[in-house]
Amino acid sequence: MAEEARDRVPGEVDLLITGGVVLTLDAEDNVFDPGFVAVREGRIAGIGPAPEAARFSAGSTLDASGCLVMPGLINGHTHAAMTLFRGLADDLPLMTWLTDHIFPAEARLTPEMVYWGSMLAVAEMLSAGITAFADGYFFEGEAARAAREAGIRAMLGQGVIDFPAPGVPDPERNVENARDFLEEWTGVSPLITPAIFCHTPHTCSEGTLARAKDAARDFSAPFLIHLAETAWEVEEVLKSRGKRPGRLLKVLGILDDSTHLVHCIYLDPEEIELIAGAGSAVIHCPESNMKLASGLARVGEMLAKGVRIALGTDGAASNNDLNILAEMRTAQTLSELTWEDALASATWGAAAALGFGPDVGRLEEGFHADLMVADLGAPRLAPRRDPRRTAASFLKRGDVRDVVVAGRVLLRDKEHTTIDLPRVLSEVNSIRNKYFSYNNI
Ligand SMILES: [Zn+2]
Repeated sequence: MAEEARDRVPGEVDLLITGGVVLTLDAEDNVFDPGFVAVREGRIAGIGPAPEAARFSAGSTLDASGCLVMPGLINGHTHAAMTLFRGLADDLPLMTWLTDHIFPAEARLTPEMVYWGSMLAVAEMLSAGITAFADGYFFEGEAARAAREAGIRAMLGQGVIDFPAPGVPDPERNVENARDFLEEWTGVSPLITPAIFCHTPHTCSEGTLARAKDAARDFSAPFLIHLAETAWEVEEVLKSRGKRPGRLLKVLGILDDSTHLVHCIYLDPEEIELIAGAGSAVIHCPESNMKLASGLARVGEMLAKGVRIALGTDGAASNNDLNILAEMRTAQTLSELTWEDALASATWGAAAALGFGPDVGRLEEGFHADLMVADLGAPRLAPRRDPRRTAASFLKRGDVRDVVVAGRVLLRDKEHTTIDLPRVLSEVNSIRNKYFSYNNI
């Protein structure tokens, strides 16, 4: 690569995106209308007003006339393979949904199912302008394989729970299994960040939580966990551990800036202070919380106290889709986030909170070229507004036309370039026919 870089003439780039309204979300909040983005070796080599594009020549171009060019969206929390369970059980509160329907379905999971379910999720996310996601599940090596083949940026947490689980029949080996996953995937690809995902403080013992965090620390890996999703969970943890869940994680030494706390609906003010002080990320999944009637996380209050917030979809089975544009809009509708905060929580703010790196989430020279191009031609996008507001509140996933991750065009004119979508659809429908009765779905 270095040799190749030396041989290049100045101004020669791999991809030149021209003609669109470029929303950078950089520190100066620059908008170039029209503007350009030049991409070399996966990073942004130049960005600015359209006339300045003349100093670049490119092997490949993307005409973004009539479109918005903006940072790709980040899905801060999902269980990708749960696309297989989309619509499996609906209109139920969380504990009934989980224990009577999802856990029994997960007992049938195979590595092959996780691979195809994850690939389906990645296809869905790319089509919706999502260029990076954080995931937690079982057989996570299969999710990593799917993400790597598709070329999306991903943080992937091997599941840890104190019950027999898919691929981990002996819960005594749950942390060891997660260590094996970290060992296998650390340093394999610059786009893949392996992690550990502990299910909840009530399904993992204190010993499991502490050992899992130690394993994550040994690999400088993120630690992901659902926290305070229901009032029931808080009562359970209080009863069995003598502490509220946020306080428990603090005492166990788990709260730090590499820890992701998903949901955080039932935190008390002291727990919010602890989380803000530790720099842990809170992932807000408003649509999943509404579907499972779990409640509303007070992320506006958390943000005001300095908590780092990212938006997430959670799994497709509790949502029903993987659509961060919709989560942005829902978070605003619930009056928890302003449109500016929602946009940050889906882009640069999410990248910083989740640890995707300081060079992800904005369109700026030197940053990773993770971006989307969205058509601005739909009547519901008229009249033209501030493009930041359009991105935060009005865009829908059907507007997304092209998606670039690390300089590679993964979606061009709404067509996947790395995923054989007909094959993926055929495989997931075969899995449904083989493992789940149609009537049940
Ligand atoms: Zn979840």
